[in-house]
Amino acid sequence: MHKLVITPEFAHGDWLHLLTGALLGALLPDIDHPSSSLGRLFRFISVPICRLCGHRGFTHSLLAWLLIMLLSTQLPNSYWLSDDLIQGFLLGYFSHLVRDMLTAKGIPFLWPAKISFCFLS
Ligand SMILES: [Zn+2]
Repeated sequence: MHKLVITPEFAHGDWLHLLTGALLGALLPDIDHPSSSLGRLFRFISVPICRLCGHRGFTHSLLAWLLIMLLSTQLPNSYWLSDDLIQGFLLGYFSHLVRDMLTAKGIPFLWPAKISFCFLS
């Protein structure tokens, strides 16, 4: 059987790390909404982001995803902050952006440009 290998971390990573990272990454973009899962837990972060950029603003952009990717390369590697967890997180985050592009509202993928990207016409 032939395996598709995206990265070695996805092919050989710990599934607990990959799934945990993907779940957290999929939740993080909506921290800009105080009623979201993470927004309710971290209102002290959620409310200022919502006031500053609004819901589906900066956190729903390619720039935010790239910044997280760059910051993640600066983190020390450990068992709980491993490469497979970080790659799962980045995949989860990006999947959230793609999911929100499937809605009629779309997202400002190239924020700060105010162009809304959505797959629906
Ligand atoms: Zn969202």
